[in-house]
Amino acid sequence: MSKYKKLILIFLCIFLFIVVPAGISLFLFWPRFQVQEFIATTQVEYNASMEYQVGNVCYGNFFECKDVFVERKGDVNTTALGCYQLTYLYSYQGKEFELKQVVEVVDTTVPELQITNDEIYYCSNKSLQNVEMMATDNYDGDLSQKIEYNFENDHIEFWVEDSSGNRSTVSKKAILKDIEAPNITLNGDADIYLTVGETFADAGATARDNCDGDLTDQIEISGSVDTSKKGDYTITYSVKDHSENVSSLTRVVHVAEKNIEVTPNGKTIYLTFDDGPSKYTSELLDVLKKYNVKATFFVTNQNLTKGYDSVIKRAYDEGHSIGLHTSSHNYNIYSSVDSYFNDLYAIQNKVKNITGYTSMLIRFPGGSSNTVSKAYDGGTKIMSKLSKEVERRGFKYVDWNIVSGDAGETTDTNQVVSNVIGSLGNNSTYVVLQHDIKEFSVDAVAAIIEYGLSHGYTFRPYTLTSPTVHHQVLN
Ligand code: ZN
Repeated sequence: MSKYKKLILIFLCIFLFIVVPAGISLFLFWPRFQVQEFIATTQVEYNASMEYQVGNVCYGNFFECKDVFVERKGDVNTTALGCYQLTYLYSYQGKEFELKQVVEVVDTTVPELQITNDEIYYCSNKSLQNVEMMATDNYDGDLSQKIEYNFENDHIEFWVEDSSGNRSTVSKKAILKDIEAPNITLNGDADIYLTVGETFADAGATARDNCDGDLTDQIEISGSVDTSKKGDYTITYSVKDHSENVSSLTRVVHVAEKNIEVTPNGKTIYLTFDDGPSKYTSELLDVLKKYNVKATFFVTNQNLTKGYDSVIKRAYDEGHSIGLHTSSHNYNIYSSVDSYFNDLYAIQNKVKNITGYTSMLIRFPGGSSNTVSKAYDGGTKIMSKLSKEVERRGFKYVDWNIVSGDAGETTDTNQVVSNVIGSLGNNSTYVVLQHDIKEFSVDAVAAIIEYGLSHGYTFRPYTLTSPTVHHQVLN
């Protein structure tokens, strides 16, 4: 063996048995710091729970890992999108060191997009018919208003995007077909009330279709009205859209018979008393009894009438006519036809309960010519409707042609007397308006009766067959 070969062998042995093991030992046992699996930048989902690093640090050597984490500076609020910087502090053998981490709170959740119906019908103008769309997002909330759509061949692609750019899409089958019938609207009321001889002018109707637009001139009207004959006449309005969807609506014209007017012989005075009964009504009945005169009471159910039911009974039993004024005597009864009749039927029931008699005689609060109802009826001309509707329902109403002035013009008994007798003449029918809730007016009755009797007038109770006295309807 040569000298060189020996040397090479010696070096090789030194290398294999000393240098390599020493190197491996140094590698394994050399002190070091190492943070395991530390992620310097990371993302966390909006609203998720944040899991912080715990600082798992190995030191000393490969075989020994210990926690030398000291503290964390900074927090991550996962309910607010954005970047958060965290600092982790560590300590080892009196030396401190820190690691920084950036955490980004992100919204990667797509909105929930819901489209009702699997087949969507649309008009040729591309408007959709049977679709309800809803979109909610975990971060943005309701996104229903942001849903957009596009036609793609025989499908409609709906999509919505949240503020972080997350997008949901839903595809539905699209069918070109009008599935909605047109909408007809009557001009004027669905019920028209007329009396025989009046003329009927049809106000017509309008029609609109979801796909075709205005179809008013396509409306076909059928049915006719004969106002010379009593009856209910139906008019039908029909319209078809381009897809043959048909709508129709009807109007009923009620033609009522005219009042039959009966004029008694001679000059007649009808004394009428509104708003009672009251504490003065018994006294009034005594006066009427003394002269054997029958009058007419248009009764109410106002508070001041409480306790005077027996007076209504007495008036009825003594042959006076009991008419219906109003239950509440509140002008809001003129807000609608229904509200008027609810009030009217209430007072009719009260009279029936007290007397057993169903009165069909009416005096409108304020008279049929009142305009106070304009403040309540919303411009619907309620008196024009009611003055016909009460007759259609079999009632008779009466106004007056002599004003006693006791409604506010005077509080003087003598003035009431002269107002009434000063208005009397040679006509056959005088209907006097007084109020038996006013003592000064009740006190005037004896003098009015004495004047009337001594001047050839007959006093009668007003009934359903008495001559009609109507004001001109002004609303
Ligand atoms: Zn009244």
